[in-house]
Amino acid sequence: MMKERLQKLQDEALAALQQAADLNALQDVRVQYLGKKGALTDVMKGMRDLSPEERPAIGQLVNTLKDQIEAVFAERQTLLNQAAIDARLASEKIDVTLPGRGTFAGSKHPVTLVTEEIVDIFSRLGFVVEEGPEIEQDFYNFEALNIPKDHPARDMQDTFYISDDLVLRTHTSPVQIRTMLKNKPPVRVIAPGTVYRRDSDITHSPMFHQIEGFLVDEKVTFGDLKGILTHFLNQFFGKGQDVRFRPSFFPFTEPSAEVDIACVICGGKGCRVCSQTGWLEILGCGMIDPAVFESVEYDAGSCSGFAFGMGLERIAMLKYGVNDLRLFFENDLRFLRQF
Ligand SMILES: [Zn+2]
Repeated sequence: MMKERLQKLQDEALAALQQAADLNALQDVRVQYLGKKGALTDVMKGMRDLSPEERPAIGQLVNTLKDQIEAVFAERQTLLNQAAIDARLASEKIDVTLPGRGTFAGSKHPVTLVTEEIVDIFSRLGFVVEEGPEIEQDFYNFEALNIPKDHPARDMQDTFYISDDLVLRTHTSPVQIRTMLKNKPPVRVIAPGTVYRRDSDITHSPMFHQIEGFLVDEKVTFGDLKGILTHFLNQFFGKGQDVRFRPSFFPFTEPSAEVDIACVICGGKGCRVCSQTGWLEILGCGMIDPAVFESVEYDAGSCSGFAFGMGLERIAMLKYGVNDLRLFFENDLRFLRQF
């Protein structure tokens, strides 16, 4: 009876030790058989019921089994210890030969890029940069630019009014007035800046950017205007760029013109971007109206000048082939990183 019980215990204990998957499970098996309440301890307690003749033989068997369990335990412990160390080394492995993670350098916004390029071209022609406030008085934004109180350009639909006398400037033209009030001719100024209008769709944003240029000196003619703008457009869009001037109207210039370039997308053949005309409207310009000179106290008899202005987002769209204005304001890094 006792022998069979020991035989069964031996089989179970050794199998359990072999199956223990980690050090904790192994320790549990040891306690299960050799602990104070373990199965083998139980057998030893039962020995007092045996006859004196039986006791030595069974005692020996118990000791042998005990040693055997200890030996297998030690062997498995070494093995599982090593496996635990190996697993930890594998999980904490660092490959010091891997290249480092790069840091992304920011890039300039496409509107900033075209602004800088335009300023650069005009700087080489002797123009200097001037800036003005974005919250502007009615006088600078409208009145002095020959846009009287009842003019449609003042429509509440287009202008953000802060008070009766203060607006978010609707164009960069007030910089002309501020500059001319400060300086006597000759002046050559290029004025980039943020402007605001109550407009929002695929091609309009309530906040956008313009660049304004003007030149006042003795005997400035429309020929000078055409020459300088044609030079600029050839520098910016590439040599041989076809340019045309169309008569137009602005309150602050007389005569006025709009300037088109041959479509940069289709090369003048006609496409969706140019509405099949082969031409793209690029800027407005004209000879500064004598009424404007009057409001800055310039003598229209002894000086003349021209002014021009263009939307920077539109220029950037054409330069980089961007088809939705809103991309410029969404701050999507996937878009911005392409510049
Ligand atoms: Zn086209």
